[in-house]
Amino acid sequence: MTSRYFLTSLAEALLRERFASPATVQRVQQGRLKHLLQHAARHSPFNGRRIQPAGSPLEQLQRIRPVDVREMMDNFPDTVCGAEITLTEARAAAQSEPGKVARVRDRWMVSQTSGTTGEPGYFLNDHRSVEIQRGVVFARTFRDRLAWKHVRRFIRRRYRMAFVVTRLSGCISTQTCLLGKQQSGRMAEIRLFPSEDPIAEIVRGLNEYQPDYVHGYASMLELLAYQADDGALKIRPEFISSGSEGFSKAGRAAVERVFAPAVVTSQYGSTECSVLGNECRAGQMHVNSDYVILEGVDENDQLVPLGVKSHQTLLTNLVNLFQPIIRFRLTDSISWQTTPCPCGSPLPTIQLEGRSDEMLWLERGPSDFVSCSPPSLQAQMYPVAGIRQWQLIQTQRNHLRIRFVKSPGVDGATVAADIRQNFRKYLDLERLGTLVEVTPEEVDMIPRTARGQKLKQIISEVGAPPRKERSS
Ligand SMILES: [Zn+2]
Repeated sequence: MTSRYFLTSLAEALLRERFASPATVQRVQQGRLKHLLQHAARHSPFNGRRIQPAGSPLEQLQRIRPVDVREMMDNFPDTVCGAEITLTEARAAAQSEPGKVARVRDRWMVSQTSGTTGEPGYFLNDHRSVEIQRGVVFARTFRDRLAWKHVRRFIRRRYRMAFVVTRLSGCISTQTCLLGKQQSGRMAEIRLFPSEDPIAEIVRGLNEYQPDYVHGYASMLELLAYQADDGALKIRPEFISSGSEGFSKAGRAAVERVFAPAVVTSQYGSTECSVLGNECRAGQMHVNSDYVILEGVDENDQLVPLGVKSHQTLLTNLVNLFQPIIRFRLTDSISWQTTPCPCGSPLPTIQLEGRSDEMLWLERGPSDFVSCSPPSLQAQMYPVAGIRQWQLIQTQRNHLRIRFVKSPGVDGATVAADIRQNFRKYLDLERLGTLVEVTPEEVDMIPRTARGQKLKQIISEVGAPPRKERSS
């Protein structure tokens, strides 16, 4: 059954973007912020210590010390409002069986991430918060498709939606897919095509399903475009969206060319808040500032002026009242655009410099290369307990070195064995199990790259093979 929160927020998000002024959007944001700060100060001890209730909500917000994933995880029970939940419990619940949304005590959804800093995080949402964010994502992603001329085509035939994302049900994009599946009703059909599966299997599934809409990681969509170029993939979606990572220039161009005239759009979301922004038909990234506050800051956490690239971004999720996320550090760099977007939306726009992990190509035989997308590789690390930070480096074509920093009190050899086992399972699916060497290596720290905070989590020192040699 479709939830009331989902439908209300879908309608609100759609109507506000079509008809409201920028001033109205700002008023909504300030109202939500005021409520969030009052609620968090009262119900979550961790935030009670951070918030000083004096001045306007915005002044209060800007006095709050930013928080990173490690500090939130170290204070986990105190970050939650109105329930006693430990990090151990959340972590255990996140390892739910595939096909079932991960929940703590069958009630609160738990999503996991290795974040933009390579440190694992677990985030909780209650039913209200999950459904509001789902409604907003749906409204703002499909903003131009929810018009009568598009919708009427699907009254006779259900709209077929394909999600090419990991099968691990602790990941937010997979959870969006699974929740949609339970509630899609008569208008739409939703199917998951696990990104860990061999590409030939994904292609076969998509050919048979013939989706109208495809959602996937940007690197996965790029791969599918090459499959279509080679004549293996034969689908004609009308709408394509990417999430979790940004497109490379070449990747975006390939997807647009191969699947033309399909509309291609990017979603900007994170595990801590799935509704950060959406790209409009004019190609601009609009921030959903009625549901989220993004602050671009410099190295000293001072706000940067309009038009200037930030060092980091502080995220405040205005919807999640169960585990408030207030001034949470994202390593993404943004800059606020100063000119209004020609599409007419009242939502402000940013230029986003996001995550930049690399696609890996492994060799199965002469001229037979298998591609592994960064999110699929990251997903293999999620079930490993006791890790503070990690980084994967492809040092030779078929050699993966995985450096990790373990949590205190954990046995490093056990962590290494878990990593080996997870990758073995994943590589076996691609018939690479015996061909690729995986070397976990315990280290004391993983140095950041030159820009200070950004940790490249997946690095290839060997690069991609020439296009003509890639079979998949
Ligand atoms: Zn626009």
